[in-house]
Amino acid sequence: MAKTRPGRRDLDSYTIRGTNKVVRAGDCVLMRPSDNNTAPYVALVEKIEADNRSNIKVRVQWYYRPEESMGGRRQFHGAKELFLSDHYDVQSAHTIEGKCTVHSFKNYTKLENVGTEDYYCRFEYKAATGAFTPDRVAVYCKCEMPYNPDDLMVQCEGCKDWYHPACVNMTIEQAKMLDHFMCSDCSSDNDIKKPQNTYPSSPLTNGKVEPKRRKK
Ligand SMILES: [Zn+2]
Ligand SMILES: [Zn+2]
Repeated sequence: MAKTRPGRRDLDSYTIRGTNKVVRAGDCVLMRPSDNNTAPYVALVEKIEADNRSNIKVRVQWYYRPEESMGGRRQFHGAKELFLSDHYDVQSAHTIEGKCTVHSFKNYTKLENVGTEDYYCRFEYKAATGAFTPDRVAVYCKCEMPYNPDDLMVQCEGCKDWYHPACVNMTIEQAKMLDHFMCSDCSSDNDIKKPQNTYPSSPLTNGKVEPKRRKK
């Protein structure tokens, strides 16, 4: 049996004012902050209920933006990055402005187009201590930074690691035109089993690397 406070009843859904968008438990929503100058808050709806005066309330779990976390925004945090916090709240449903989608990191990186309502979450965040789960994350490139999906990276066909163009002396434009990329470590390795496409150590002249055919 669902537990409810006296005079309250659970609702299956709430229709956002002035729209036909229906919010249900488990949905992610954008909520209007009291200060109109800040971006809307993002929350995960846990429960929708009405009190005996038909005021509709939502119990939410907040997502934090990197700048709202104790450590602040860091270089590898993307513009659409959110942390699922352990901070719960009860809010008036009228503060819900719209719906959004918080993707897993993996799914987010596979999106063909990122809409304004697409976000991603790869960390859980403890609001009281500032601790993240997981507390370690894979790093890439020579600079050994976690992946920021806002930054273009190129994958080495040898070691499969990903690199920032700037860290391997390329411009973004050069990287975008590359069909094949080998990092300097892999291209200096003479192992014949590896693809022979090489990254030129000198700056690219026409921005294009022609793959060399491997002899059979
Ligand atoms: Zn790098
Ligand atoms: Zn490599």
